[in-house]
This record gives sequence, structure tokens and C-alpha cells, in this order.
Amino acid sequence: MIICPGCGADMKFDPEKQKLVCQYCDKELDPKDYRAPKAAEASEQQGYYTATIYTCPQCGAEILSTEETVATFCSYCGTSVILEGRASEQERPNMVIPFRIGKKDAEASYRRLVKQALFAPNDLKADSVIEKFRGIYMPYWVYSLETDEEFKVRGVTEVRNGDYIEKSTYEIKSPVKASFEGISFDASSGFADNLSDAIAPFRPKDHAVDFDPAYLSGYYADAGDLSPDVYRDDAKEVAVDNIAAQIQNQFNYSKYSVNRSDLKKAIHYNDSSKSALFPVWFMSVRNKKGDRISYAVVNGETGKAAAEIPIDFKKYLLGALLIAVPVFVLLNLFLTATPFKMLLASTVLALLSYVIADRQLNKVYAREMFLDDKGKKAAGKVPVDKKWQEAAAQARIPEKSNKTLIMVLKRMTQVGLWIVMLAVFLMLAGVVASVLDIDVSDSLAVSTIGAYILTTVIVTRKVGNWFNKKAGIQKKEPAVKAKSSYKSKYLFKQLAAVGIAALMLVMRPTDDYYYYIAAGVAFLLIVWSFYDIIRQQNLLTTRKLPHLNARGGDENA
Ligand SMILES: [Zn+2]
Ligand SMILES: [Zn+2]
Repeated sequence: MIICPGCGADMKFDPEKQKLVCQYCDKELDPKDYRAPKAAEASEQQGYYTATIYTCPQCGAEILSTEETVATFCSYCGTSVILEGRASEQERPNMVIPFRIGKKDAEASYRRLVKQALFAPNDLKADSVIEKFRGIYMPYWVYSLETDEEFKVRGVTEVRNGDYIEKSTYEIKSPVKASFEGISFDASSGFADNLSDAIAPFRPKDHAVDFDPAYLSGYYADAGDLSPDVYRDDAKEVAVDNIAAQIQNQFNYSKYSVNRSDLKKAIHYNDSSKSALFPVWFMSVRNKKGDRISYAVVNGETGKAAAEIPIDFKKYLLGALLIAVPVFVLLNLFLTATPFKMLLASTVLALLSYVIADRQLNKVYAREMFLDDKGKKAAGKVPVDKKWQEAAAQARIPEKSNKTLIMVLKRMTQVGLWIVMLAVFLMLAGVVASVLDIDVSDSLAVSTIGAYILTTVIVTRKVGNWFNKKAGIQKKEPAVKAKSSYKSKYLFKQLAAVGIAALMLVMRPTDDYYYYIAAGVAFLLIVWSFYDIIRQQNLLTTRKLPHLNARGGDENA
């Protein structure tokens, strides 16, 4: 606690003034000029400062404060409880970015975000919830890297010359001198990686100052539990990406390659990583059932906001009806609904739903097992759910490969591959149609094409993955793929809907009645699959409540 030299009341750090301000007499004081009492000074000289650690009895989260306040709720699990505090000596971080965005501005930034989310539950917009934004200094590791070496770069240029393309290949050695300062990763396993990514970057170069506990007045700080080794390699990857992009700009090759592992070897850490506290406004909301929680965060330096916003079923249903009814009426005015067209429509919708659900299920799979959160894994946190625990123990996170990096043309080649495959499948459809003597104006033939397109998508994805592997193309983040046994529990609905449409083609019943039944069943399956998608989306925008036993199952850990 910092006592006002004028009147003896509390002083708090003010983000607008960047000064300590007395809550009673408005006296201002620069944190640099603040002199700690004698007792505190002694420990400060040894690289420590005194703080109270508040521990949540529900989830074990620890936040600290330099004031004698009473913490009445836990930001990480949302429990309203008076947190138990104990005095402790904390290691002084090397630097701090003081809060520059005040609470009101952080709230406004969050409000703008939820306003756009039409289907957000009302809870997320309630003043009583938004009030719970808490200023927390999050611990970060700040890495500095540099390189000054020669790299072998292979480049290709293509110049169109009348009817032919002149292709030249170069192999040159290029000196690259680069230094990176301030690449940072958060050091708290409680602060989810995807949220910390979403509000990045912080700019320690512009706004960091030497740490002083005076900056903590009026705020909390997360104690942090991750060593600098956890994200050391990721920091290097950021530098490698950056240099690769620079090389591209420099040479203007239509295609170039540089060996990623060479780059990695040539980049060095120029001194040990620095510890920092960065300002984050943090808020959490539990769902109606109270078993899951979503977080909202605002960067306390830049004001950038990110929030996990689930979908409210009632609002969504109402919205869907409001859109579906006029669309349906309009379609009826211009088109006559034939059973064939309905089957075609159901195939297209099933295809759409399949693609969305497939991507989403991979994400849910990774999230529930903490496979997308390096920090949680490093801290030994495991999913609460036994089922997920077992799966997580078996799961393997794909490593970033060190193969050659090819840029620019890779995407175009993929798109080309797509178009070729689609054409091949359409041709096959034509051949099948002529062999079976099917009238192409027959809508059933059209729905076969729908089924073909679905097959194309699935096959092309497989071929595309194979192609990427061969060419050494890698996504920036290696994606975790869900097991097919897990996905098939959800994706069978879309496939069944397509199957029903295809079955009608093979059976070709004469009575319209069968087509209506088939289309009806297909639509029900599709509605069911979209219901799944919303439920999965709500899993992605909420988290299981953090538990004490989530740290390796040991309550004392
Ligand atoms: Zn005062
Ligand atoms: Zn808690």
C-alpha cells in the first residue's frame, strides 16, 4: 500500500496520468519518486518485493496485490468468495508496462465487441458482469534474438515473353543481419494461450519501464508459473518467419526457398530472457448451468479486446426463424419446390455443414485436451474430465517440421489442384450419367453431382494434405487433428443426408411420396447437424471450470 505523503490516504496508479494519485486529496506522485518504507527497502535491494498472495480455494489460482484489500472473487473460476491472503516475498521482474488503458476504456472496448455479437447471452452484456473487469499484470517472458550470417537462398523468377515463360533459377548467398527485441510470451498457465495471442502484441520497447512495486497500486498481478524455456522455441519461430518474409521482400522471386533449420541455427539469443509484467484487463462469466466459464480480456496498453462469446440458443432460434421465413417465401415465389430440388438443396446444405463441423471438431478436440495450450501442458495441467485425460495422454501434437519453406506459389498450386480434381469428378459424373442413360436435366442427376462434389472435397483434402507433406508446406500452427472415431459421432449425420439423396437416385422410385420422405429425413439430419455445430461452438467459447486437481491430479501441487 502506498500512503499519500500529504494526507495519509491510499494512492493508486492512474493510467491516464501515469502517476500515483491520492484517492482522497488528489495529490500526484511519480512512481519513480516514491520511496518505500525502510523495511521494504531492505528486501527490495535483494531483488524482492513484498506482496500479499491471494489463493482461490476453488481452483487454486493465485493473484497478488501490494495492497491490504479484500479480494472477493476469483477471476479465473468466477467464484465469489473471500480469497485467503498471505504475505510473501516476490521476485522483482525486470520490467513493467504500466496500465495505459483505464477501467472505463477497457469496459467500453469490451462493450463494442459484445454489441456486434447478436446471439450473445444477455449475461455477457450486463453491467454487473462488466463491472468485474479486473486489472491484472500478467507475467511475460521477453526474448531478444539476433543473427548476422550468410544464408543460401534459392530463388526462381518467371518472366512472360510472348508465348513462353522464361524461368530462371538463382542460388545466391545473402548476408542477413537482424535483431529482434521484445518477442514475448505469457508466463502464466492460467492465462490461456489463445487469449494472450488475441490481444498481442505488447510493445515493451515503447512503454516498458524498470519495475517498481508502486505501479501495482490499484491492480493485481498474476504470480506466473512457467519457466522461460517453455516458449523459447516459439520465440525463435517468430524470428524465423520474420526473416523469411524479409528475404522474400528483398528478392522478389516468384518462388524461393530457404532452409528453415539453417535459419534457426543461425539465430541466437543475445542475452538471457527478461521477465516482465504486462497490463491486462480480465473478466470471467460462468454459463447458466455454472459448469463452464468464458473469459474476456483487454490489452491494458493498447485497448485491444478479445472475448469468448457463446451463442444463446433462444436468440439464435429466433434469428434463424426471422431469416428463414422470408427466404422461404421468396424462394416459393420464384421456384417451384420439386422433390428433386429439395434433395439437391439438402445435399448442398449437408456438404456445407460437413465442412464447418469437421474444422470445428478438430478445434474442440485440441481445446478440451489442452493440446492448443503449451502453457497449460508445461504446467502439468490436465483436463478435468477422465475421458479427455485418457485421450490427451495418447494424443501427439504434430511438431513443426524443419523442411524447406516454399512460399507464394504454394497456395496457387493448391487451388489449381482443386480445380483439376473438380473437373475430373464432374467429367466422371457425365460418364456415369451417359452410361446409366440419365437425362441431365433430371434434378436427380444434379443431386448426384452434389454427392460428387462432397466426395471431391473429402478426397481433395486428403490429396492436398499429402501434397503439403511432400512439398514441405506447413501451416504456421500445426493443427491437431481429431481422431476419426471422435469425429464420426457427429459427422455421420451429414453423410447420411447425402447418402439418402444418393439412394433415391439408385432406387428411382416412381412415387413422389418417397422423395418427400427422403428429403424430410435429410433435412432433419441437417438441422440436427447444425444444432451440433452450435453446441460445439459453445464448447469453443467456454472452458471447463479450472479445478484444484487440474494440476496433475494432486491437490497439494
Ligand atoms: Zn492525499
Ligand atoms: Zn478460482
